[in-house]
Amino acid sequence: MTITRRTALAGTAFAAAPLGGSAALAQNSPAMPSTASSGSRSQQAPGFYRYKVGDIEVTAINDGFARRPVEGFIKNAELKDVQAALQEAFLPTDAFPITFNTLVLNHGGKITLIDTGNGDMGAPTSGRWMANLRAAGFDPAQVNTVVISHFHGDHINGLRLKDGTAVFPNAEVMVPAAEWAFWMDDARMNQAPEAMQGAFQGARRVFGPIAQDVKRYEMDKEVVPGLTSIAAPGHTPGHTAYMLSSGSAKLMIMSDVTNHPALFVRNPDWSAIFDMDADQARATRRRMLDMAATERAQVAFYHAPFPATGHIAKEGSGFRFVPVQWSPSI
Ligand SMILES: [Zn+2]
Repeated sequence: MTITRRTALAGTAFAAAPLGGSAALAQNSPAMPSTASSGSRSQQAPGFYRYKVGDIEVTAINDGFARRPVEGFIKNAELKDVQAALQEAFLPTDAFPITFNTLVLNHGGKITLIDTGNGDMGAPTSGRWMANLRAAGFDPAQVNTVVISHFHGDHINGLRLKDGTAVFPNAEVMVPAAEWAFWMDDARMNQAPEAMQGAFQGARRVFGPIAQDVKRYEMDKEVVPGLTSIAAPGHTPGHTAYMLSSGSAKLMIMSDVTNHPALFVRNPDWSAIFDMDADQARATRRRMLDMAATERAQVAFYHAPFPATGHIAKEGSGFRFVPVQWSPSI
């Protein structure tokens, strides 16, 4: 027998018959709309990704991205060095994408959010959060607790729509006490530079109407069962990371300890313009990345490429972020 490409293929999983069969099924089944009738092929599947930490189900929910000009982004590095780091990561060197990824914890049916995304106030390439939350099977009315890491708009604006509507009507809102003390202090707002006024106003917009009900939490405390706050100051005064634990399983939730890993995991001493106390942020970043690398702990970052979870390896004078391998089931 002469082996042709056709006969070789016939012996594999790519054999002609099963392919023809599934194509016929798609045509005959009204439940499977064809690409032609459903329109664009440019959309991805909804941006959520589930994994387990012991008994706790974690779902990363993506809120799109914003492009950030590279020039002026890092205060203590030469532009050419920043561009080289981006090039090494195959990212654009003029303006690069920063993604937003919140977490949903499902612990025995209790639903906890960690941060809320941009709501309807972010870049046009963000604002996908609610659709992705619903696609993951959650309803904002069923959220029991919202835990906030810090008061920057990309983390809190999802709590309240631009028109004032509360997005999670049944949730208890928990914020770092140190963050509240800083951003809700009128005297401090009045002394703050013009560039920071938006952040002060944003905190008042979101938390003002519920000020009496917001619960303020301290560091090294179990905020909800299994989730312990870790002081991670520098990015903001009360910026908080977390350790999620269940049995022997752990997840270090890094919040904004680093911004894009291609820049700040590789170069932990670089300072993004958002870091309010650059020296403190650097010390926090080194300490947390070192802990993650030493303990081989799984980490989650708010601003890493989706699904924004993986591990940290030591490399040279910095570290390397190694994303998880995508798994079709948890
Ligand atoms: Zn952020």
